[in-house]
Amino acid sequence: MTKIIGLTGGIGSGKTTIANYLRSFGIPIYIADDEARQLMQSKEITVALENTFGEAIFENGILNREKLAAIVFNEPEKLEQLNAIVHPVVKRHFENWLTENNKASYIIYETAILFESGSYKKCDIIITVTAPLETRVERVIKRDKTSRELILKRIKAQWTDEQRISKSNFVIENSSLEVAKQKADEILKILAITQKHC
Ligand code: ATP
Repeated sequence: MTKIIGLTGGIGSGKTTIANYLRSFGIPIYIADDEARQLMQSKEITVALENTFGEAIFENGILNREKLAAIVFNEPEKLEQLNAIVHPVVKRHFENWLTENNKASYIIYETAILFESGSYKKCDIIITVTAPLETRVERVIKRDKTSRELILKRIKAQWTDEQRISKSNFVIENSSLEVAKQKADEILKILAITQKHC
């Protein structure tokens, strides 16, 4: 039975960077936030969204996520409707992907909101990636050209590192990438993951 490793961490901690390093060992990686973003543009979801929220949330035929967010923001009932459309599709997509990768001993499921979404319950092992708050803010400003306030707002809406660490099996401190990779190597060794196992 394939084991699921949940890989999480706050915004800018370096989850995707570590996930890509682990991919180089042949471990199949599911980047949940990227997959969900793509699925949001799928026919199945866009048709249901149009039926529920109207065509105003589209611009030139493409879903405008900001407009959708503005509608569901502060309206729990609308947010529930959105989740009822999106969650089953995302869940089914992951389950299909898992079946496609059922020869692997381990797969990695990467998401910032592993705990907040409840997805941690399906994981056999959980790894949290951390980095100092200032480092994370600087990385995200550089990567996304966004504002400090917006990043801090997103960080505040997520679990703290202390909360994540308390429910994790392993922690990768990612200030220095070299040190973080060494820690990842150690974890792979403990889990007895070698290329031939993936
Ligand atoms: P998000 O939650 O926003 O998706 P994330 O946790 O997946 O973020 P990454 O996208 O992996 O984080 O990293 C954020 C940025 O920081 C990227 O531009 C990445 O190249 C850079 N970065 C990651 N780790 C390090 C490191 N150890 N040293 C320097 N830069 C790093």
